[in-house]
Amino acid sequence: MNQQKEFANVFICPRCGAHTVLDEQTTVCSGCSISLIAPCPRCNSDIVPLDQYCPKCGLDLEQETRKVVKAGRSNWAKFGLALVIIGTTIIIAMPILLFMAPMSDNIEVTLGITVRGFLVGMFNIGVGLWFMRKH
Ligand SMILES: [Zn+2]
Ligand SMILES: [Zn+2]
Repeated sequence: MNQQKEFANVFICPRCGAHTVLDEQTTVCSGCSISLIAPCPRCNSDIVPLDQYCPKCGLDLEQETRKVVKAGRSNWAKFGLALVIIGTTIIIAMPILLFMAPMSDNIEVTLGITVRGFLVGMFNIGVGLWFMRKH
């Protein structure tokens, strides 16, 4: 019974992933110090982490929090997907653009730009895939 209560009072930070055991005094994340006091989405009064319902208007905060976390996740996944698409576009488009309209007559300069574009594209894809997997 006691154990279950403690488990319910652990806040898992959506930003840094740290587990913070909540009590009445807890107002910041133990990992990144982000404030855990949030305004009620409906009436704007201060909500401490242990409140399940807004003390003023009675809004179900558990449900609201879950909605926010879910929305945040899918946005990050979309961000990752956008990075992958940008990276792929750079890798495919760079050689074509340079072939059609060379920025320089010097083949070494052109090759240098191509390599750099390729690296930037690969970096975007890597970071994008990481975001899509993590979120
Ligand atoms: Zn945190
Ligand atoms: Zn409220």
